[in-house]
Parts: sequence; structure tokens; C-alpha cells
Amino acid sequence: MKSANEIFAGYGTTVFEVMSRLAIEHNSINLGQGFPSGNGPEDVRAKAAECLGDQPNQYPPMLGVPELRQAVADHDKRFYGLDVDWQTEVMVTSGATEALADCLFALINPGDEVVVFEPLYDSYIPIIRRAGAMPKIVRLEPPNWDVPREALEAAFSDKTKLILFNTPMNPTGKVFDADEIAFIAGLVERYDAYAVCDEVYEHIKFDGWNHIPLMTQPGMRERCLRIGSAGKTFSLTGWKVGYITACAGLLSIVAKAHQFVTFTTPPNLQRAVAFGLRKDDAYFDALAADMQHKRDVLRSGLEGIGMATAACHGTYFLNADFKPLGFNGSDVDFCRHITVEAGVTAIPVSAFYNQGGDSGVARFCFCKEDQVLEQAIERLARHFAG
Ligand code: PMP
Ligand code: GLN
Repeated sequence: MKSANEIFAGYGTTVFEVMSRLAIEHNSINLGQGFPSGNGPEDVRAKAAECLGDQPNQYPPMLGVPELRQAVADHDKRFYGLDVDWQTEVMVTSGATEALADCLFALINPGDEVVVFEPLYDSYIPIIRRAGAMPKIVRLEPPNWDVPREALEAAFSDKTKLILFNTPMNPTGKVFDADEIAFIAGLVERYDAYAVCDEVYEHIKFDGWNHIPLMTQPGMRERCLRIGSAGKTFSLTGWKVGYITACAGLLSIVAKAHQFVTFTTPPNLQRAVAFGLRKDDAYFDALAADMQHKRDVLRSGLEGIGMATAACHGTYFLNADFKPLGFNGSDVDFCRHITVEAGVTAIPVSAFYNQGGDSGVARFCFCKEDQVLEQAIERLARHFAG
């Protein structure tokens, strides 16, 4: 038989699925795959239920229901001062994962180059490659994840079609600061490139750190495609409702990819997300404050048993160096070991580096109830004391 597509055939099952299966098999507390332990805001779920009964359930408009496109445009104005035309500059997708694929398929021609930072979210490289581009990877290192400016500059060339970057950043917990954002904007402008901005954790940032969309920078409005996700903003990861904001010229091409990939997204979920995005500031402030508290619970627990944690200014992931525990294997060995032997699961950060290897760091997800985090710490403490 002829072989299937060699790019996809060459990848294994995603690390999130692998580690979640292993966690279930060993009855382990799953701090691996990033999903909140709660069930999302009750009023948003109630709205989805209500709309399922009251509102049309046939194909909604291809760009998304007007209520949600208007809500995204108003959200972008409220939080970032962006003037967005909801009719031509907003599109709803089935999660940020689809939004990313749509943007990459819509912009890339075979032979283009795409600049990315690693460690990176695992869908980026396969889709970039499948779209025919060559990824140019700039490596960030724990514990501070500083941007190596010379390497970033060197990654850009006349072949650069776009930079794909994520802030607040999974898995690092890094939030790009004003200087870094301005530096990236300068390169995008200089190389006449685009920027696909994965901002799914836009509302999950800590310690007064500000999320700055690249799109707000001078000259960037026409070059950026900004992606958000209701999964993260409303702790409803199973819903897979995402949204893209971009100038009309770019969005109309991205819509071509969307129409052939999913075409639409369940209309009741879209309407409920529209309701959610109109919540008052208190909702968004509480989301960030709650996650910051959880980060602190996990951080003090991991530090308490001797692990060294990296900086974390946003997202719901904390990275920890496990070498101080005296464990000698790789990050993959460590995450398997603690799942099987201690009953706590984390993700090896090497899974987010293109070449794999050993990062020496494990990613722990803290969007869980306090008692779940405390129980996980107790299990690790007991195991490594023994
Ligand atoms: N980008 C990043 C950085 C993520 O962490 C996630 C979460 N899985 C996504 C994109 C995908 O979001 P969604 O679940 O909305 O597809
Ligand atoms: N974004 C989540 C994470 O990084 C999970 C994504 C997934 O399971 N595909 O853990």
C-alpha cells in the first residue's frame, strides 16, 4: 500500500493524550494536560443550555454568529483599545487550534519560513511543515526564558512570511514585556512579515504583568492575526470556541481556510461565549487572581520539597527543575516515574522542544482546586522523603 502523508505519519500521539492516559491508568493526580478542574462559570453554561433550546441549531454564518463577533470586537476595544469592525475583522473558529491552522494555511506558500520560539505548543510545527514552510526556531531557556535578541534577528530573512508567537506563553509561563514586543514589531515591519499571535491566555497573567497584544503596536494592525480562546478565558476547554481578529484583507483569506476545515462552530456555544465576553471586569480580574493564588500554592509546595521553580507571570503552568530531588533520569523518565510511583502527573518540557532531548524541567498545571494541589504536593513529598 502507498504510504500516508509522511509528516503526520512521522509524529506520535500528543504528549497530552499520552500522559493523561498514563495518569488514568495509575490513578494519578493529573497536573499534566492543561485543563481546569472545575466545570466553568455556571451562568455561561446556563446560557449555552438556554440557547440550545431557544435558538436555531442549523449552520450559523460561516464567520460566526453576529452576537459573538460583536462581543469579540467590543472585548478588543475594552481591553486593548483596538477599533475592530465586527463584520469584516472577526471570525469564530472551533478552538484556537483550528484558528492557528487556518491562519497558517491561509498565509504560507511552500518555501516560506516561519519564525517560532521554543519550547512551543505542540500543534505549531506539524502544521507549519504541512503547509510547506520551514520553521526557524529560536530557543528560550529556563528559568527566565529571556529572548535571545541576536538569535531572533538572525532567524528573520527575506524568506520570512510570519512569526508565530504565544504570550502569555505555554509552557513557559512567560509574558512578553513591552521591550520584547516592540523588538518583535520592529522585525516584523523590517522584514515585511506577518504575525500570528496566539493569545489564548490573555486574561491569565499575574503580579501586575500586562498582556500586550502585538497588534496594538505602531504599524502592526494590518500585519497581526490575534487569536483568543473561550476554553482558557472561561475555563471551558472542551467547548473549543476560538476567535481571530485581523484586518479585513487578511481575515478574508483565513476565512477561506476555515470554510474548508470546519466551516462553523456550534451556535449555542458561540452565543454563550458572547454572553461571557460581556461579563464585567470583576470576572476577568477574579480569573487572574484565582490562578495567581493557585500558582502560589503549587510553587510553595514544590519549593517546599526542594524543587526549583522557574519564573511564571501568566498561563496556568509552572515549570520545576527536579534535579535537586536527586532524580537522575531525563524529564520524560521523571514524569513517568512520578506518575507511576508517586501518583502525580506532569509533562516533560522536552516535549515542547523540536529536537526533544532532556530539558531537566517538568511542567505542572495548577488550574485545579487547592486541595488537589495540596494532595499532589503531599504525595510528592511522601515519595521523595522515602
Ligand atoms: N495555543 C496554546 C498555547 C494552548 O495552550 C492551547 C490550549 N490547548 C491552544 C492554543 C488551543 O486552544 P483551544 O483549546 O481553544 O483549541
Ligand atoms: N493546552 C493544553 C496544554 O498545553 C492541552 C492541549 C491539548 O490537550 N491538546 O496542556
